[in-house]
Amino acid sequence: MSPASLGRLNAPDAHAHGVPGTDNAIFRLWNIGDPSSSVPENCFFSAGIHPWDAGKYDLAAFAPLFDSPRCLAVGECGLDRTSDAALPLQMKVFEAQIEESVRRCKPLVIHCVRCFPEFLRLKSARKGEDAPAWVVHGFRGTKRKAFDLLDAGCVLSFGAGLLRDAGNMEYFSEIPLDRILVETDESPELFDRILAEAAAMHLLSPSELAAAVGVNFERIFRHDPV
Ligand SMILES: [Zn+2]
Repeated sequence: MSPASLGRLNAPDAHAHGVPGTDNAIFRLWNIGDPSSSVPENCFFSAGIHPWDAGKYDLAAFAPLFDSPRCLAVGECGLDRTSDAALPLQMKVFEAQIEESVRRCKPLVIHCVRCFPEFLRLKSARKGEDAPAWVVHGFRGTKRKAFDLLDAGCVLSFGAGLLRDAGNMEYFSEIPLDRILVETDESPELFDRILAEAAAMHLLSPSELAAAVGVNFERIFRHDPV
């Protein structure tokens, strides 16, 4: 099925950059990385300090955003070895946001680049805690990496990387359906293509995958996206 023939499916976009509210045909969880941002009344969002911005903002400045019932998650936050910010500082900023997530009972949206051992150590240190979900956004990589994250209890959100890496991700159909989200990140126009590709790789129709992703979104973010 070509993306153009899909029409609008009721699947949520779990992580989107851009100007909140510019495309209301899709439910998007907008990423807010600047505490001075204002978000239109009809938009839902995650808020937090990106690892590239570790040291740039004070987490306390995000409190009014975190207080909003339309803030469904803390993030994106995490660790990135390609960031100019020193890794110990990134760790400190990330751990503060993990605490914020627990205190506010809001899941984490996580950016992790070339720091998976450090990330998994942080995650396993919290094993057994009844904490909000950890959503690793924009996941790309090997089956081993995917299953290490799944075994640690994470949810994986897939975006445009799925289109680029389709040939290297033959394991995608093995990822449990209840641990998958889809997102556009920086490419809002790709939503239908990402959904169609993910569905085909999971041997589902786009509407079946859309339904499963919608259920996952509601369970994880405690908000019905439809
Ligand atoms: Zn992002």
